[in-house]
Amino acid sequence: MRLLLASALSLLLACTAAFGQSPGDTRIAKWKDDRTAVFLLMFDDSWPSHWQVAAPELVKRGLTATFYICPAKGEYKVHADKWEKELWKQGMVYGVHTMTHGGIKDAQHGEYEIGENASYIRTIVPQTKDKLVSYARPGTKPGTWNITNEEEATLLKKHQLIDRPPFTGHGAVYHLKTTEEMLALADKAIAAKDMEYLVVHGVERVGPVVKYQDFWPLAQTVFFPLLDGLKERSEKGALWVTDHITYHQYLTEHDSAEVKVLESNDKSIRLQLSTKADPKLYDQTLTLVTTVPSSWKKCSVTQGTQKVTVPVSNGTARYDALPSGPEIMLQEDTTP
Ligand SMILES: [Zn+2]
Repeated sequence: MRLLLASALSLLLACTAAFGQSPGDTRIAKWKDDRTAVFLLMFDDSWPSHWQVAAPELVKRGLTATFYICPAKGEYKVHADKWEKELWKQGMVYGVHTMTHGGIKDAQHGEYEIGENASYIRTIVPQTKDKLVSYARPGTKPGTWNITNEEEATLLKKHQLIDRPPFTGHGAVYHLKTTEEMLALADKAIAAKDMEYLVVHGVERVGPVVKYQDFWPLAQTVFFPLLDGLKERSEKGALWVTDHITYHQYLTEHDSAEVKVLESNDKSIRLQLSTKADPKLYDQTLTLVTTVPSSWKKCSVTQGTQKVTVPVSNGTARYDALPSGPEIMLQEDTTP
């Protein structure tokens, strides 16, 4: 009898664990908006085709990318106005790719090539002041990269730069040639619920006045269907297409994030979201999924001065909240 009771009890516990999410139970989504995976598009060397072709096509589809710029390089200087006054206002994000792309002589010269590049970005894009910026080491001629990895790491730390993943195996035109190969990378990320990325150099220009192409131009017949494929996966909720720093912030905050239920009843749920990441540099919201009382159809979410109303779906509310911010309050929204 005691055995029967014990097994009945464990069965009950198992059922509760499997089905019985109770109000207040909160899951921190692995990726923004509870999407399955992340995809990063990166454009290197500040080629004119980036603002001429790539950015307008990204904007058309509501996508973004990271552009690794070299502000003292010839092609950049001719069109500095485009980079300084236009591209970032369209939602594009800049990263450091060294001032000249010509290599680094020593640590002091590194201060110019890397440090100046970072200051320049933080000057032209006000919201990056005192914030993290992405960094991509340029591929330079043999014998021209003369700082040690330690000196480079010191410069990155000093200037609050985050190294992007390596070019190896991820170069458009160089490693990956077809739309199918590139979308296979995105689908690999989705299958692994992880991140993948593509590094692009030039993008093909077309038209009667085009006299030359940028370095390693990615054909429009490959590039545009790639963007369509990414947009389609994004709209299905499978892919989060974002810039390198936003991805890095989300990942870092998520790694040590915890939710504490302060109070949960029929009328309201109060939560505290915390993370060990430095709140000055890691100020990206995380997506939370909270089980709410079964009678709720809509739910208002308040954190400090921020207030939004979200629908309840399958008994849960999904919303964004700032870690290490004020407490989060969920309440039933009964307005029609
Ligand atoms: Zn480069």
